Formats: sequence, structure tokens, C-alpha cells
Amino acid sequence: MRITMVGAGYVGLVSGACFADFGHHVVCIDNDVTKVKALNRGEIPIYEPGLAELVASNVKQRRLSFSDDVAAGVRGADVVFIAVGTPSRRGDGHADLSYVYAAAREVAAALSDFTVVVTKSTVPVGTGDEVERIIREQNPDAKFAVVSNPEFLREGAAIRDFKHPDRIVIGTDDTRAREIMAQVYRPLYLNAAPIVYTDRRTAELIKYAANSFLATKVAFINEIADLAEKVGANVQEVARGIGLDNRIGAKFLHAGPGYGGSCFPKDTLALIKTGQDNEAPLRIIETVVAVNDQRKRAMARKVANAFGGNLRGKSVAVLGMTFKPNTDDMRDAPSIPLITALQDMGATVRAFDPVGMEQAKKVLEDVTFCSDAYECAKGAHALVIVTEWEQFRALDLKEMAVTMATPVIVDLRNIYSPDEVSRNGFLYCGVGRPQPM
Ligand code: NAD
Repeated sequence: MRITMVGAGYVGLVSGACFADFGHHVVCIDNDVTKVKALNRGEIPIYEPGLAELVASNVKQRRLSFSDDVAAGVRGADVVFIAVGTPSRRGDGHADLSYVYAAAREVAAALSDFTVVVTKSTVPVGTGDEVERIIREQNPDAKFAVVSNPEFLREGAAIRDFKHPDRIVIGTDDTRAREIMAQVYRPLYLNAAPIVYTDRRTAELIKYAANSFLATKVAFINEIADLAEKVGANVQEVARGIGLDNRIGAKFLHAGPGYGGSCFPKDTLALIKTGQDNEAPLRIIETVVAVNDQRKRAMARKVANAFGGNLRGKSVAVLGMTFKPNTDDMRDAPSIPLITALQDMGATVRAFDPVGMEQAKKVLEDVTFCSDAYECAKGAHALVIVTEWEQFRALDLKEMAVTMATPVIVDLRNIYSPDEVSRNGFLYCGVGRPQPM
């Protein structure tokens, strides 16, 4: 198969490299010329474990290449994936589809033989119809079918997720397109990945329903954590106790500072808008969004509570800024509103992240960026663990306690045992767990 990926970001680059690794011939197109030049020099513009090696080996075997020329990439392709961004539209929360439509127009102009055009970007119900209309308008002679094939990979584990997906969703009523998509994913049959064939609109809705459901689980356990704190219960044990029930499942039941990242915040908002536009309001998801929004500043109040509610003149050390470990992605990271709230309360903020520093510097102001966790803690009145990077799980707390102004740990990911931290002389505040005696 000859595959063209339009958009070489987190999804396009990982999917493109994995398809090439399956044996397909893939060209990844991006209109960011700097990105394409970097890729052609062998540099990977994002941090994703294993991606550099996967890209290098497939480039070497001549199955993967990069270009900024959409027309050249589309000519001769069997399948063209659109994997460009769909951020929240400024002001109203609808998905901004301008990148998808611009890509569709460029693809349309270059179509010749029958080509399957696939939206891999997360797009609201009906976007496939609009992409089809745009292509037909732009190139009335084009022979093509538009398919929805949403992506479910998670940053930080993207290659594994792509190669061992829980399911693949393919939305189309076109028999020929369905056969071609089956060939594209045939290498995954060996991994017994279930394929859900459905219509295009249903496929589009599956992606939003999945992300919104996961966001709901997170918001749910966070509210249970708040209650657990008030009544002296332990949210981690509640999560285990309910998660062992197969109908509930153990995943996405970790209490923390609220969800963030490049998908959940924008996708929940976009689904709410789709619901409102179609007179089917999604009140549960509206509440999830509101609960999650309030939570991030509430986490700053949790830090303040360790100081009798007053953070003025205090130095707070923040460990971890990316929205989760093993990525450099800072889009909508909970650390951003949390740090702003700490600053609003009069604290000065020092921060460290293992790979997210460069991205963090672009979005955070008045923060002292440190070179490691120990330098970050030095002189601070409180250490706040925001992202659970592996390297924060076994810090030398004794050493830290000596260098901090006051030994306080606010562990927003519950990665430490309260008793162990207290034994090292710290005041410990976790999420939804009883305070150590
Ligand atoms: P991204 O911003 O990392 O990448 C998008 C890329 O598309 C950028 O490199 C941009 O330069 C390029 N681009 C934009 N317009 C273009 C055009 N006309 N021609 C060529 N290139 C163009 O975004 P992402 O995180 O990869 O997300 C892409 C889509 O996948 C979004 O809809 C997102 O919701 C969805 N998604 C993301 C994830 C994730 O974990 N990041 C997971 C599943 C689904």
C-alpha cells in the first residue's frame, strides 16, 4: 500500500512510522517546513519513547519519507490520511476544522486514480460529509471515498498503542474503501485487534464518546477523592474496590489534579457543542468539564492550606509540567492553571520537568526553571508533584528535607506513601487519602 499522511504531528508521525514498519510505503507531509527539514535531517520534533528509532529504521529501509509537497504525496497514493490538528475554536469551544478543510482542499486538487481519503483527526459528526463535499467541489472528476478512522493512541505509549490497539474503528459505507482499509490494517490481524466497521457518522461519534467517557471517569474519582478527604476514607482503596468490578474497570480511576492534555479538554467541549447544536444536551459532560475546570485552581488552594491558606512570599517547587509523563506535550496541561493560581496567591514558582522544559518556557511566565528535582526543591517552602514521571517516584527525601525552607510535599498524584514521607520529616498532603498521624 502507498500511504500519505497529511500532518506529521503526534498522531501523523507515529501512525506514519508504524504503517511503514508494517511494510507499507509512507510519506508524511507537513506544511511546517522547519519540521519537515528537521525530519529529513533525522531529528524528531516531538518526544515520544521509541519513535526516533522507529523513524530511523524505516527511513533507512526507504519505506518512510517526509515532504512539504501535498500534491506530490497524494499522486499515486492508495490512501491519504488527514491527521492535522483540530484544536478548540477560540471563543466558543467548537472544534476548529479549518486545518482539516484546508488539507482536504489541497488533497482534492491532486487526486487522480481512486483514492481513499481518511480523516484520522478527531472531528465532529458530519465532518466527513463536509470533507466529501469540499473534495467534490474542488475536483468534480475525482474518484474517491471519504472514510472516518479515528485514532485512539495515547502520547507516551503511542507506538505500543498503535501496534496493539484495543480496537480499530473504520467508518464507511463504500465497499471498495472498506477493502482497502482492511489491507492497510491487515498486519494488525496477527495481533487480533478487533475492527469495528460502521458508518462514518457513528465512527466520528465513537471517538468523542470514548474520550468524554474517560474524562467522566477521571472527574468522578476526583470528586470521590474530595469526599474521601472530608470523611476520612482512602480514595485509592475505593478505586481498587470499585475497579475490580469488571463492569467498572480499574483504569482511569486515579485521583489527581484534573485531566488535561491535547485531547480531553477540547474533545469534551466539542461534544458538548455538538449536543447543543442538535438539541440533545449532554449534561453529564457539561458537568464533567465544569468540575474539572474548577479542580486545577482548587489544587493551588490545597497547597495554600498547608500554610494556613496564605501563600504570600512562599516559594513553591513544582515537579512535572507536561500533562502526563513520557511526553513533552504541554497543551492544556493542568500545571498551567495550577502555577498561575499559585502566583495569583502570591507565591513564587520554581519548576522542573524531565523533557517538557522547552515547551513549558513557551507557555509559563515568571517561573524559575531548574535543572533537576533537587535544585528545584532547594529553598522552597513546598514541593508539589504535578506529573508522575518515573524519576520522581524515588526521590531522596532526606536530602531534600535539609535543603528546603519548610519540608512540605503536596503529592497530587499519590505516588508516595504518606507514612514514608512523614517519617522523613515532611508534612504530607496527598489527594483523597487520610493525613498521616
Ligand atoms: P499536532 O498539532 O501535533 O500535529 C498536526 C500537524 O499537522 C502539525 O505538524 C501541523 O503543522 C500539520 N498541518 C496542519 N495543517 C496542515 C496542512 N494543511 N498540510 C500539512 N500539514 C498540516 O496534532 P496531533 O496531536 O497529532 O493531533 C492531530 C489530530 O489527532 C487531532 O485531531 C487530535 O485531536 C487527534 N488525536 C490526537 C491524539 C494525541 O494524543 N495527540 C490522540 C488521538 C487523536
